[in-house]
Amino acid sequence: MDILAHGLYGVTVCSRMGLAGGREGTRGRRWWREPSVWWALFFGLLPDMASMWIPYFLHKGLGAEGNFFRYFDGGWLTVYRVVHSLVIALAFSAALFFWRRKLFVASLAWPLHIVSDAISHVEGKFQTLILFPLSDWGIHGIAWWRHRWFVWAYWAALVAIWAGLHIWRRRNALE
Ligand SMILES: [Zn+2]
Repeated sequence: MDILAHGLYGVTVCSRMGLAGGREGTRGRRWWREPSVWWALFFGLLPDMASMWIPYFLHKGLGAEGNFFRYFDGGWLTVYRVVHSLVIALAFSAALFFWRRKLFVASLAWPLHIVSDAISHVEGKFQTLILFPLSDWGIHGIAWWRHRWFVWAYWAALVAIWAGLHIWRRRNALE
Protein backbone atom coordinates (compact mmCIF):
# COMPACT_ATOMS: atom_id res chain seq x y z
CA MET A 1 0.00 0.00 0.00
CA ASP A 2 1.29 3.50 -0.76
CA ILE A 3 2.55 5.63 2.11
CA LEU A 4 -0.22 8.23 1.92
CA ALA A 5 -2.89 5.53 2.18
CA HIS A 6 -1.06 3.97 5.13
CA GLY A 7 -1.21 7.27 6.99
CA LEU A 8 -4.83 7.93 6.11
CA TYR A 9 -5.99 4.42 6.98
CA GLY A 10 -4.34 4.85 10.38
CA VAL A 11 -6.29 8.07 10.97
CA THR A 12 -9.48 6.60 9.50
CA VAL A 13 -9.54 3.50 11.67
CA CYS A 14 -7.60 4.42 14.82
CA SER A 15 -8.31 8.10 15.58
CA ARG A 16 -11.33 9.75 17.20
CA MET A 17 -11.98 11.62 13.97
CA GLY A 18 -12.38 8.25 12.25
CA LEU A 19 -14.00 4.96 13.19
CA ALA A 20 -12.45 4.84 16.67
CA GLY A 21 -14.42 7.98 17.54
CA GLY A 22 -17.70 6.16 17.03
CA ARG A 23 -20.71 8.37 16.49
CA GLU A 24 -19.29 11.10 18.71
CA GLY A 25 -16.12 11.62 16.72
CA THR A 26 -13.91 14.39 18.09
CA ARG A 27 -16.83 15.79 20.13
CA GLY A 28 -16.79 19.17 18.46
CA ARG A 29 -13.03 19.52 18.56
CA ARG A 30 -11.35 20.60 15.33
CA TRP A 31 -9.63 17.64 13.78
CA TRP A 32 -6.17 19.21 13.91
CA ARG A 33 -6.60 19.81 17.66
CA GLU A 34 -7.42 16.15 18.22
CA PRO A 35 -4.22 14.39 19.42
CA SER A 36 -5.38 10.93 18.35
CA VAL A 37 -5.37 12.10 14.71
CA TRP A 38 -1.66 12.89 14.88
CA TRP A 39 -0.79 9.82 16.89
CA ALA A 40 -2.67 7.53 14.51
CA LEU A 41 -0.95 9.21 11.56
CA PHE A 42 2.42 8.75 13.25
CA PHE A 43 1.84 5.07 14.02
CA GLY A 44 0.42 4.47 10.54
CA LEU A 45 3.60 5.81 8.97
CA LEU A 46 6.05 4.52 11.57
CA PRO A 47 7.08 1.18 9.98
CA ASP A 48 8.12 2.83 6.71
CA MET A 49 9.52 5.96 8.32
CA ALA A 50 11.73 3.96 10.64
CA SER A 51 13.04 1.50 8.09
CA MET A 52 12.96 3.28 4.72
CA TRP A 53 13.02 7.04 5.00
CA ILE A 54 16.42 7.25 6.65
CA PRO A 55 18.21 4.91 4.18
CA TYR A 56 16.29 6.56 1.32
CA PHE A 57 17.59 10.01 2.19
CA LEU A 58 21.06 8.63 2.77
CA HIS A 59 20.89 6.94 -0.64
CA LYS A 60 19.71 10.13 -2.36
CA GLY A 61 21.81 12.45 -0.22
CA LEU A 62 24.98 10.58 -1.07
CA GLY A 63 24.07 10.86 -4.71
CA ALA A 64 23.94 7.10 -5.18
CA GLU A 65 22.83 5.91 -8.57
CA GLY A 66 20.35 3.20 -9.30
CA ASN A 67 17.13 1.92 -7.87
CA PHE A 68 16.90 2.42 -4.12
CA PHE A 69 14.72 -0.64 -3.61
CA ARG A 70 17.21 -2.88 -5.36
CA TYR A 71 20.04 -1.79 -3.06
CA PHE A 72 17.94 -1.93 0.07
CA ASP A 73 19.48 -4.80 2.00
CA GLY A 74 21.52 -5.89 5.00
CA GLY A 75 20.92 -4.12 8.30
CA TRP A 76 18.13 -1.90 6.97
CA LEU A 77 16.29 -4.94 5.68
CA THR A 78 16.43 -6.40 9.20
CA VAL A 79 15.09 -3.11 10.60
CA TYR A 80 12.35 -3.29 7.94
CA ARG A 81 11.40 -6.78 9.10
CA VAL A 82 11.47 -5.87 12.79
CA VAL A 83 9.09 -2.92 12.33
CA HIS A 84 6.90 -4.96 9.95
CA SER A 85 6.42 -7.77 12.47
CA LEU A 86 2.91 -8.13 13.79
CA VAL A 87 4.30 -9.83 16.89
CA ILE A 88 6.47 -6.82 17.73
CA ALA A 89 3.82 -4.22 16.90
CA LEU A 90 1.16 -5.97 18.98
CA ALA A 91 3.56 -6.38 21.90
CA PHE A 92 4.23 -2.64 21.72
CA SER A 93 0.50 -1.80 21.65
CA ALA A 94 -0.10 -4.17 24.56
CA ALA A 95 2.61 -2.36 26.55
CA LEU A 96 0.92 0.98 25.80
CA PHE A 97 -2.38 -0.48 26.95
CA PHE A 98 -0.87 -0.80 30.43
CA TRP A 99 1.39 2.24 30.51
CA ARG A 100 -0.15 4.83 28.18
CA ARG A 101 -3.77 3.84 27.78
CA LYS A 102 -4.55 7.09 25.92
CA LEU A 103 -2.26 6.10 23.07
CA PHE A 104 -3.39 2.50 22.84
CA VAL A 105 -6.07 2.84 20.15
CA ALA A 106 -3.98 5.19 18.00
CA SER A 107 -1.03 2.79 18.28
CA LEU A 108 -3.11 0.10 16.56
CA ALA A 109 -2.44 2.00 13.33
CA TRP A 110 0.94 0.27 13.41
CA PRO A 111 -0.39 -3.33 13.31
CA LEU A 112 -2.96 -2.08 10.79
CA HIS A 113 -0.10 -0.93 8.55
CA ILE A 114 1.41 -4.41 8.81
CA VAL A 115 -1.82 -6.20 7.96
CA SER A 116 -2.26 -3.87 4.94
CA ASP A 117 1.29 -4.63 3.81
CA ALA A 118 0.84 -8.35 4.41
CA ILE A 119 -1.97 -8.54 1.87
CA SER A 120 -0.48 -6.04 -0.59
CA HIS A 121 3.04 -7.50 -0.87
CA VAL A 122 4.23 -10.72 -2.46
CA GLU A 123 6.99 -13.27 -1.92
CA GLY A 124 10.44 -11.73 -2.09
CA LYS A 125 12.56 -9.21 -0.27
CA PHE A 126 9.69 -6.98 0.79
CA GLN A 127 7.28 -9.69 1.74
CA THR A 128 5.75 -8.95 5.13
CA LEU A 129 6.94 -11.57 7.59
CA ILE A 130 4.24 -11.03 10.17
CA LEU A 131 5.72 -13.48 12.67
CA PHE A 132 9.30 -12.21 12.39
CA PRO A 133 11.66 -13.14 14.12
CA LEU A 134 9.78 -16.26 15.18
CA SER A 135 9.12 -17.41 11.62
CA ASP A 136 9.84 -16.39 8.03
CA TRP A 137 6.30 -17.12 6.98
CA GLY A 138 4.34 -14.57 4.99
CA ILE A 139 1.29 -14.20 2.78
CA HIS A 140 1.71 -14.11 -0.99
CA GLY A 141 -0.68 -11.22 -1.54
CA ILE A 142 -1.39 -8.75 -4.33
CA ALA A 143 1.57 -6.60 -5.40
CA TRP A 144 -0.11 -3.20 -5.14
CA TRP A 145 2.52 -1.48 -7.32
CA ARG A 146 1.66 -3.82 -10.20
CA HIS A 147 -2.14 -3.65 -10.00
CA ARG A 148 -3.72 -0.30 -10.54
CA TRP A 149 -7.22 -1.67 -9.77
CA PHE A 150 -6.09 -2.66 -6.29
CA VAL A 151 -4.91 0.89 -5.57
CA TRP A 152 -8.26 2.21 -6.83
CA ALA A 153 -10.08 -0.29 -4.63
CA TYR A 154 -8.42 0.67 -1.38
CA TRP A 155 -8.74 4.41 -2.10
CA ALA A 156 -12.41 3.93 -2.99
CA ALA A 157 -12.89 2.02 0.28
CA LEU A 158 -11.36 4.96 2.16
CA VAL A 159 -13.77 7.41 0.53
CA ALA A 160 -16.70 5.06 1.25
CA ILE A 161 -15.76 4.79 4.93
CA TRP A 162 -15.65 8.59 5.32
CA ALA A 163 -18.92 9.05 3.47
CA GLY A 164 -20.55 6.41 5.67
CA LEU A 165 -19.17 7.96 8.85
CA HIS A 166 -20.32 11.41 7.82
CA ILE A 167 -23.87 10.25 7.08
CA TRP A 168 -24.07 8.21 10.28
CA ARG A 169 -22.86 11.06 12.49
CA ARG A 170 -25.14 13.58 10.83
CA ARG A 171 -28.11 11.34 11.32
CA ASN A 172 -27.22 10.91 14.97
CA ALA A 173 -26.79 14.64 15.44
CA LEU A 174 -30.24 15.31 13.97
CA GLU A 175 -32.02 12.80 16.18
ZN1 LIG B 1 5.25 -0.79 5.25
